[in-house]
Order: sequence, then structure tokens, then C-alpha cells
Amino acid sequence: MIQVYTGNGKGKTTAAFGLALRAAGAGFNVYIGQFAKGRICSEHKALKAIKNIKLEQFGSPFFIQAAAATDRELARRGLEKVRAAIACRKYRVIILDEINLVLRYKLLNLEEFLKLARRVPKNTELVLTGRYAPAKLLREADLVSHIRQVKHYYRCGIKARKGIEL
Ligand code: ATP
Ligand code: MG
Repeated sequence: MIQVYTGNGKGKTTAAFGLALRAAGAGFNVYIGQFAKGRICSEHKALKAIKNIKLEQFGSPFFIQAAAATDRELARRGLEKVRAAIACRKYRVIILDEINLVLRYKLLNLEEFLKLARRVPKNTELVLTGRYAPAKLLREADLVSHIRQVKHYYRCGIKARKGIEL
């Protein structure tokens, strides 16, 4: 199944990690590939303690830098790792965090990604997160959750906080 968590509200990455926790509890192996992120977040420290969750990061320590060539190269290398994770057939849940943004900004080719996504067995959950999921990706998905921001405290000047946003 292909699940997409998109929209501008808070909760996409944390929903995916919540699913990882649930799946790991059920004894499934979980693979998490984080695109466009190279920073260690608090959840990584907690996930280290869970042996059946594997996490790899494919981004620079900074956020997407206007589709620079290095970001494209990092995304490409990330996709190769994802290909290997799918091919080894070990993982029942495969989470690609922030891939929607990467596809929207064309750091990866959408058609090439869709070809790969279609080959994922139906009993494997492929979970794709990030804002601005391309319409074509939504059409191919089995589940789409669109999280809409109604209010956010950053408007009151509250910056990202450890343990809550990072
Ligand atoms: P989360 O990781 O909390 O589940 P998310 O994956 O839905 O959130 P992203 O779009 O990946 O959201 O954004 C990363 C984090 O940055 C979110 O926690 C979000 O609340 C926060 N955020 C978004 N916009 C701003 C902003 N302008 N200022 C500060 N924080 C922001
Ligand atoms: Mg996110």
C-alpha cells in the first residue's frame, strides 16, 4: 500500500514515526529513509533503542538549498539506498520522510520514482511524507492524509523546540 501524509500542518513526520513504532511493536522490520535532512533529531536517539527499525539520512545538515546540484546528488544516492532496501525484501514498512518535497522540487524524477513505488509488494507499506506532494503521486496512492494548518505557534514567534519539533 502507498500512504501519503502531506499538507502544511504539523504532524506528517511524527505520524510516520508513530506508524514505525506500531509496526516495530508488531515485530515488523521498518526502514526509514530521510530525504533532505542530515541533522540528528531527538527521535533518532529513541529509535536507536529499537532494533527492528533502521534509519538512514540522505540530506545535508541544512534544509533544501534551492535545488542545488549537491542536493540532487544526495537525493540520487538516497534513492539508490531505498532501491536496495526494497529489493532486500526485509522491510514490511518503508518510510520515505520528506520525499514529497524532493519530488515536487524535481530533485528526483517523479516517473522514475513511481516506477519503483509500483514495484513495492502490496503487503509492504510505503509511507511518503512531506508538504506539496505532486498530484500524480496522490493519484497513485492508496491512502492520502492531508494535514491542514489551522493555527501554529510559530506565528507568535515560538521557534522549533527540542523534543517537540526537533
Ligand atoms: P512534525 O515533524 O512535527 O510531524 P511535519 O513533518 O508535519 O511536522 P514539516 O513540514 O516537516 O512538518 O516541518 C518540520 C517542523 O517545522 C514541524 O514540526 C513544523 O511544525 C515546524 N514548522 C513549520 N513551519 C515553521 C515555521 N515557519 N517556523 C517554525 N517552525 C515551523
Ligand atoms: Mg516532516
